[in-house]
Amino acid sequence: MDTDAISRPSPFIVGLTGGIGSGKSAAAENFAACGATVVDTDAIAHALTTAGGAAMPAIRDAFGPGLLAADGSMDRAAMRALAFSQPQARTRLEAILHPLIRTESERECAAAGGAYVILAVPLLIESGSYRERCHRICVVDCPEDLQIARVRARSGLEETQIRAIMDAQASRQERLAAADDVIDNSGSLEDLRRQVEDLDRRYRQEAARGA
Ligand code: ADP
Repeated sequence: MDTDAISRPSPFIVGLTGGIGSGKSAAAENFAACGATVVDTDAIAHALTTAGGAAMPAIRDAFGPGLLAADGSMDRAAMRALAFSQPQARTRLEAILHPLIRTESERECAAAGGAYVILAVPLLIESGSYRERCHRICVVDCPEDLQIARVRARSGLEETQIRAIMDAQASRQERLAAADDVIDNSGSLEDLRRQVEDLDRRYRQEAARGA
């Protein structure tokens, strides 16, 4: 039995979110460099759907072997196409993944050893259960045009595809209204790093106070 998990007080959790291309991953990297423990639900979802991942038996049962790549991982392109053409397939996949992501992220938060945890959740604002777990909500923000330009440079997606993803997410105003802290990522990566370092100092103080 993990006696540490019983004796350890629950960690101070900062939910980190932002629209696609706002700079969540870049911010999370900076928090990690400051020594925070980063629990990333996207990374967990990815691990669950690699070969041998905990979601793979249920995915195979639900969708058949045609949705598996040769190595036994989920065929992401095939699943994207299926989810796009059949919304109920997306719902089914989410019904498999979401409880597993929730359980694994809870486990990683509870096992965290650092001063505080950054819980990175792209759809944090949209999700009541993740919001409830956070002591603070930190939103990475930048103008929509900049989001689009950054995603285009990163992925080569077309503007219409990026806008469709943005339309399915909370609006910039909704995210800002839910934020306790806002990182303005309209400047350079150096500006981003400085803001993360300021927040890191505050979060350490608040975690130490047991806020
Ligand atoms: P998200 O995780 O929110 O989708 P990313 O952190 O992946 O966004 O950032 C999107 C892209 O923009 C990445 O290629 C990243 O390196 C780049 N980027 C993020 N912040 C900045 C910045 N302040 N200046 C320049 N490029 C940035």
